[in-house]
Amino acid sequence: MEPDLSNQVLIVGAGPTGLMMAAQLVRWGIQPRIIEANAGPTLQTRAIGVQARSMEIYREMGLENEVFARGVPAKYATIFTEHGRLGQLSMTDIGAGLSAYPYMFILPQDQNERVLGDDLMQHGLKVEWSTALKEIANTDGGVRVTLETPGGGETKEFRYVIGADGPRSTVRQALNIDFAGSTYEHKFFVADLSAEGELVDGSLNLFLSNKYFVLALFPLPGAKRFRLIGLLPDDLAHKEHINFEELQPKLREMVGERMRFEDVSWFSTYKVHHRVAAQFKKGQCFLVGDAAHIHSPIGGQGMNTGLQDAYNLAWKLALVLRGQAKEQLLETYHNERHPNATSLINTTDRAFNVLVSAHPLVGFVRNWLIPRIAPALLKNKWVQRKFFMTISQTGLNYRNRTLSTEQLGGQIKAGDRFPWFVENGLDVFQTMTGTRLALFALGDWSAQTAQLEMLRSPLLEVVKITDQHTFLKAGLVAGLYLVRPDGYIGLSTKDVAEIHEYLLQKICLTAS
Ligand SMILES: Cc1cc2nc3c(=O)[nH]c(=O)nc-3n(C[C@H](O)[C@H](O)[C@H](O)COP(=O)(O)OP(=O)(O)OC[C@H]3O[C@@H](n4cnc5c(N)ncnc54)[C@H](O)[C@@H]3O)c2cc1C
Repeated sequence: MEPDLSNQVLIVGAGPTGLMMAAQLVRWGIQPRIIEANAGPTLQTRAIGVQARSMEIYREMGLENEVFARGVPAKYATIFTEHGRLGQLSMTDIGAGLSAYPYMFILPQDQNERVLGDDLMQHGLKVEWSTALKEIANTDGGVRVTLETPGGGETKEFRYVIGADGPRSTVRQALNIDFAGSTYEHKFFVADLSAEGELVDGSLNLFLSNKYFVLALFPLPGAKRFRLIGLLPDDLAHKEHINFEELQPKLREMVGERMRFEDVSWFSTYKVHHRVAAQFKKGQCFLVGDAAHIHSPIGGQGMNTGLQDAYNLAWKLALVLRGQAKEQLLETYHNERHPNATSLINTTDRAFNVLVSAHPLVGFVRNWLIPRIAPALLKNKWVQRKFFMTISQTGLNYRNRTLSTEQLGGQIKAGDRFPWFVENGLDVFQTMTGTRLALFALGDWSAQTAQLEMLRSPLLEVVKITDQHTFLKAGLVAGLYLVRPDGYIGLSTKDVAEIHEYLLQKICLTAS
């Protein structure tokens, strides 16, 4: 008899991270419970950029059409100074050859949540709205929680709890997990609106000036719709509540007749924090998304990093719940995602400091030097590649982590995302489902066909690629690459016998 895998996991929070976590578990045949303190889906757009790595995951989940129907790719980045337009860069194929999605896709957070929420419904799982976690404690074999529900309250034990409950995470606080870091003094405003004048529709428009902090307009779906972001002027920054009308005269002072703003559908102000939780796992509880790390929104990484946390944890948790792997595997979640969060916070901090610094030299570099050299630099293929890999999260890797065993020495190593390429018209990512491992046998393995076939199972797909030209171009070498369900290379080797050993020792698969 199949074990009952429903209600063993509680997901706290139905933001993008919690929804992705639930959607991934459902794909593995596990029905979690997912609760949300709010009464219904959010109406705030908040994050707007979906990076290529997240798009790849959406496609694997069969959600590509839904996502395309609701969003648009950013077409250009255009830089303006006080003297007018300085330069423009096409963004539509900046990552050509690196991903099927070589651009940044604009799909506001509320729409991401709709796509994921609808997907859950299709799989028969409903978010439990108006249901809040109140108390939580690790016990011997699980986690005891107290929930506040529309009908009153409930105390229950789960095997695992996922804290996807945002920056003020109840899970994190109740478990006494340190959230070290600080808050920048600057206050920003963000507005979704219609804009006309000296800007390019469908483009990221950056306005640089010594008179005011960078103004950025990101394209939103819809003609002339933009997300406007800027630093609040000092005389407004100290006020607790302000509205867009109070800001309008200041904006006019800054940009004069160059731009007109109207039809504001969302306005908010916020301070930027940078903090990372000391532990992403404590007992049987996990922290994912903003509950685990928060940083400046520069580069549009926040929501995407939460989606990747969920994607990293879900397959590990699923294998353990299904009895196919030992609990030990779960320790690798912190081992992989904590260093990633720490380095992301350091990078976004550095970029943020350049953006807000009042130092004249930094101001000169930001407002004069960078705008003049960036367009030329970004035409260089190597720079373009590095830039895309960083922003799109396709370059993120788990090299030298517990699960990564490198023995081939190619340019692409164990711990890297298996590279995207097309061989004989077949998109290599279409061979990966997200719910099994894949063994890529590159080159001539005809003498070991029987050994390779013996490895094939419902949990392991074997893919043979003989066209040397294609895989060498992608940075791979002839050999065996064992790819985890989340698309990262676990083992690279020349020895078929090592595959079995790796699965037992590293992935901790149970012998059966
Ligand atoms: C103004 C603003 C602009 C932003 N812009 C960008 C951007 O351009 N790009 C980008 O990548 N990121 C941006 N972000 C960050 C992005 O919104 C977050 O990274 C993202 O929302 C994180 O998702 P999450 O699911 O981890 O957390 P959240 O979206 O915060 O979701 C957590 C959920 O948990 C619920 N919850 C909390 N406590 C409980 C409880 N005790 N019980 C039950 N439910 C609970 C909350 O109600 C909430 O719905 C922005 C954020 C803000 C505020």
